[in-house]
Amino acid sequence: MSATEVAFALVAVMQAVLALVWLIGGWWAGEMRRAALQWGAFAGMSALSFMLLMLAMRSAELQPGDLLRAELLRAGGNVCGVVAVMALRRGIWLFLGRSLRPSIQPLLLVAVLVVAWLGLDPSMGALRVGFNSLVLTWLCLEMACALHTHARDALRFRWPLMLSLPMLIAALGYGTRGARALLDPASVAASMTTHSALNVGSAFSYVVLALAFNAMLTVLVVARLFAQLHLLSHRDGLTGLLNRRAMQEALDTQMRRSRRNGEAFVLMMLDADHFKAINDQHGHAVGDQVLKHLSTLLHSGMREIDRLARFGGEEFLVLLPGVTLAEAVPVAERLRSLVAGTPLTDGGTPIAVSVSIGIAEWGGAHEDLSRLLVRADAALYQAKQHGRDRVALAEAPALAAAV
Ligand code: GH3
Ligand code: MG
Ligand code: MG
Repeated sequence: MSATEVAFALVAVMQAVLALVWLIGGWWAGEMRRAALQWGAFAGMSALSFMLLMLAMRSAELQPGDLLRAELLRAGGNVCGVVAVMALRRGIWLFLGRSLRPSIQPLLLVAVLVVAWLGLDPSMGALRVGFNSLVLTWLCLEMACALHTHARDALRFRWPLMLSLPMLIAALGYGTRGARALLDPASVAASMTTHSALNVGSAFSYVVLALAFNAMLTVLVVARLFAQLHLLSHRDGLTGLLNRRAMQEALDTQMRRSRRNGEAFVLMMLDADHFKAINDQHGHAVGDQVLKHLSTLLHSGMREIDRLARFGGEEFLVLLPGVTLAEAVPVAERLRSLVAGTPLTDGGTPIAVSVSIGIAEWGGAHEDLSRLLVRADAALYQAKQHGRDRVALAEAPALAAAV
């Protein structure tokens, strides 16, 4: 075996192992399964491609008279190479949720097959290599653009180019090979059939590129998993609102900002009135519906920059940045009357629900978060004491501290 054949066989083995990893990994990949399976197909087809190219070389060596056999193997290898990259693209499109239609891929594939057939004539071999390389260049450029946009807009990478770089390098490599095959067919025709340092070099470049592709796909998957983990750990499962942990983070951030620039902010603590009775009367499932209904209503009555969290069972917390107590009162009143005026209809029977609200404005640099929460909670208690379905204001911090 020549060094080129050994190099091609090694690349094929490496790609076969990676195909296995993606196919097995894809099994557990949940919603990413379809993409992972395409990436497994990419590595698998690429392994097949290198295997066929290797066999083409062996055939040319062992049976120099049987030109057609070698050309068939080589054409098969080239077609598999293009199909592999098409699967890679398909996987990336599925992963990014891009539409696969309308697509020129089937047309491209037909063109590749036609050119492969034409290229069986040895004098046309360079045309096949040139055409396939240009198709691969186009596919890689398309993927580089999609990955760049995703890294910049969705992942907010500081250097989005890092994600698309392997694709750009591949496009450059294929583009150069395509141009060389079309402009100087003789040199390509010669190098295809024989063992050469160039062939060994390109096999090893492909190893580096394939590993970079896999690193790039792994970055995509890990970033997606991180985003899902963040969502799960910061959102309430029932209502989709921020959970207690996320609200704590939002409050910490607001507190730091306000300590720095003195910006006022208000905390609103809301609690559904007689919620236990709703559960007892209509069942727990309807109780859950009421909680969702409440979250939707509250969310619709707030500004973009306000933060709304489900703080406990039937208790909600609202952070209003840049707002004073006087400004927060009409907001709280609006939310209260919105809830009281919008009962949930459960199969025709309206279920009345109301909320009591305690509001407290941050008292300045000397007041920490736990103290502010205690004041908002005390105000909520006052609202309950005074008959529910109402808004109560917290006492000023100095007074509260003196109690
Ligand atoms: P109050 O007006 O004083 O707030 O009375 P309440 O009945 O709302 O308050 P209480 O604290 O007595 O009861 C709260 C109820 O909320 C008890 C609990 O079973 C119910 N609850 C807590 N979390 C959930 C939930 O996720 N779903 C449902 N359906 N009920 C919940
Ligand atoms: Mg309650
Ligand atoms: Mg409660």
